[in-house]
Amino acid sequence: MSADTALAATPRGGGSGLVIYTISAANPEAASDEESLSPSDKTSSYHASRKEKYLLQETARKLLPEHRINSCFWALARGEKDVAVVYSPAAGRANYRRLAVCGSVWACPICSSRITSQRAEEIRSALAELNNQGGGAGFATFTVAHSHEDALPKVLNGFLAALHNLTSWRGYKELRAEYGIIGYIRVLEVTYGRNGWHVHAHLLYLFAAPLPPERLAELENKLYPLWSRAAGRQGLTMTRRYGLEIKKAYGTVEDYLSKYGHGPRWDIGAELTKGHLKRGRTIAGLKHLTPWELLAAAVAGDVRCGALFAEFVEHFSGKAQLYWSPGLRALLLPEKEDATDQELAAASLPDDNEVGAIPERSWGAIRRAKERTVPLELVESTGGTWELLPAYLADVELRFPSAPAWERRDLTKLPPEIVGDIEKMHRDQAERNRWRGPLVVDVSG
Ligand SMILES: [Zn+2]
Repeated sequence: MSADTALAATPRGGGSGLVIYTISAANPEAASDEESLSPSDKTSSYHASRKEKYLLQETARKLLPEHRINSCFWALARGEKDVAVVYSPAAGRANYRRLAVCGSVWACPICSSRITSQRAEEIRSALAELNNQGGGAGFATFTVAHSHEDALPKVLNGFLAALHNLTSWRGYKELRAEYGIIGYIRVLEVTYGRNGWHVHAHLLYLFAAPLPPERLAELENKLYPLWSRAAGRQGLTMTRRYGLEIKKAYGTVEDYLSKYGHGPRWDIGAELTKGHLKRGRTIAGLKHLTPWELLAAAVAGDVRCGALFAEFVEHFSGKAQLYWSPGLRALLLPEKEDATDQELAAASLPDDNEVGAIPERSWGAIRRAKERTVPLELVESTGGTWELLPAYLADVELRFPSAPAWERRDLTKLPPEIVGDIEKMHRDQAERNRWRGPLVVDVSG
């Protein structure tokens, strides 16, 4: 099947709670939007999206004060005295070392993007190998009905239990044999819409041989009653309406993977948020929002979206986002080790080399300035040198000095008029000692 037919594929049996798309194996040659950009456009779009992830993470940190995201790419790793900047000449990218990394695929925009882009590559490789072995694939979406009254943990746990039970049933095993299903890769997702939390899973079914559309439709018709029964046993139901809503959001596997492998999509979130704030509408008026879109709305000041994001993280933490059915990895990626999320988030590029180190004091100023991506951009802009860093670090420390000792002193017990005088004296003094203007750093070179 060519990529064209894959794009033209339509969901089948849209009236049920289960939609199977016909697809082709991922085409590694297919140019994504990003690949059609010129190298300098590519760099600036990379810089913009990295900056957005750090910005989203600043808000996620505030929403999740107890979560390990609070130290992620923020605190120095245990026992370290400075922050290393490494550079990969092949990728043209700089990165940090010796910082804590949270490895949370649900909560952290920075880690999630690193994890999912590598996981998406693995799925692409697996599909290429499946293609070599003469197999085929189908993209199924499992969902259940839900209402505003349903609490997230009830739907989530019931949904996962239903999926788990389904795959152990004899009827399901018979379908596996009948249709040559060699396994599946499951991605767990949730969105928030006018009916509350919408938990769903995409199952990429892999077959020993490609199935024609009518065979896929047949499989779907046989699988649907099983899924409906499994969900029913958990007190969950499904409706026509939901089956219909899903087909709009997802196309082919390649299309899906390109979304999946990019972590937060700020452009979508920002669009929704802007429109949402402009119209002054509540989020109930919007369609389904992904957790990253909820977080983006929180960045823009939407308190309710922020609370929903925190609720989502609380209940999804510890659940696998991506799951390969037993034996599938060994079959398609026998050489590839199955790394943990934590390992993927902290992974280095093979040619990363240390360019320089940022002292802890300067790192504090960079954090206060909310400029965590600037040192990376400066190193990248000179092809991996430390050239611009000394001037930048001196500048950021002047612009964002740590609070002077007198500011940290407790003056509350003194009479207010004296406190005012003391503060003014210190402020005048600080002003005289201060650097006389911002240092201009040329980043164009
Ligand atoms: Zn993280």
